[in-house]
Amino acid sequence: MSGRTQLMWDEAVTGYDFGRDHPMDPVRLALTRSLVGALGLDREVRVVAAKAAGVSTLRLVHREDYIEAVRAASADPAAADRAYGLGTVDDPAFAGMHEVSALIAGQSVGAAEAVWRGEALHAVNFAGGLHHAMPGAASGFCVYNDASLAIARLLELGAERVAYIDVDVHHGDGVQAAFWEDPRVLTVSLHEHPRTLFPQTGWPEETGAAGAEGSAVNVALPAGTADAGWLRAFHSVVPELIADFRPQVLVTQHGADTHFEDPLAHLAVSLDAQRAVQVACHELAHEHADGRWVALGGGGYAVVEVVPRSWTHLVGIAAERPVDPATMIPEGWRQEVYARTRQPAPRRMSDGRRPVSWAAWDEGYDPADRLDQAILATRRAAFPLRGLLP
Ligand SMILES: [Zn+2]
Repeated sequence: MSGRTQLMWDEAVTGYDFGRDHPMDPVRLALTRSLVGALGLDREVRVVAAKAAGVSTLRLVHREDYIEAVRAASADPAAADRAYGLGTVDDPAFAGMHEVSALIAGQSVGAAEAVWRGEALHAVNFAGGLHHAMPGAASGFCVYNDASLAIARLLELGAERVAYIDVDVHHGDGVQAAFWEDPRVLTVSLHEHPRTLFPQTGWPEETGAAGAEGSAVNVALPAGTADAGWLRAFHSVVPELIADFRPQVLVTQHGADTHFEDPLAHLAVSLDAQRAVQVACHELAHEHADGRWVALGGGGYAVVEVVPRSWTHLVGIAAERPVDPATMIPEGWRQEVYARTRQPAPRRMSDGRRPVSWAAWDEGYDPADRLDQAILATRRAAFPLRGLLP
């Protein structure tokens, strides 16, 4: 039992359900929670259910008229106002939508509060990471932006430097937008190129507003990028920025949709590389943020094969009890998966892609390589604005 790590969990978050045939099936949260338990990790952390975010907290990021529109759609889904992105194909309205969205946001805000106050060193909310929600609109399966709200709450509590790293396959556009003009928040997003993927933003040239130049950093990865390229991109951009920025808290978003099995995107990253980036984020928190780390989930639509394993690794790393990738998955969990989904469950906590290696940037780059072009575009656009060499 470690008092250092908090896992945010309230069974009711599985009520975040856009309905049958929507890719964001809440079974991914339930199966993650039960795999965490099957591997005994819930005995290594404090499991805490925070209260839902109230309107005054939601107002730190969201417009009042939008919150009102969510409440109205939540009470009467048929009356959802599409002008706010509600009642759309991506964000269908459902009864109780406001309450469960505020509950998920509350877990991320509670994680941020616990870490800021020193009640926990690390806190994980894998139900969060809903990074597309905008101040005045739902977008991309996201209603309230729990990541932005956690950061805004840290600022309200007095934080002067918060770094946000987003490795979801989609651009972290809502978080970037929320802090576009705020030099206290450094947002770094690695994602599939906007030319081939929603939300069609996250170009390297997006670097922050006047007065906050260089506070947004975007790496637009070519479709098809696999483990070695993804890790090379991460390590060629992120550690240098974090070391220079010296955040008081590190907030990270671990969307699992970079995976080669993910049905909605086109990167080719393995579970083993996802785990390697989770480990790297944990190390960055210890090296540069006195260990203060808030880790969130995000996208991920291979709901049986990928998401539970990826976020269970995240919980293990945050608990300082990393799960060995060679670990066999307990049979009881595999039976639960079959009972709930009629799909076969994976057998191991690995895709067998280890060791995951990559070439460091300072060992040289190939100007003809598309991945290296993407890394260089990011470094050239953003690094000089932070006083760093491109
Ligand atoms: Zn740690």
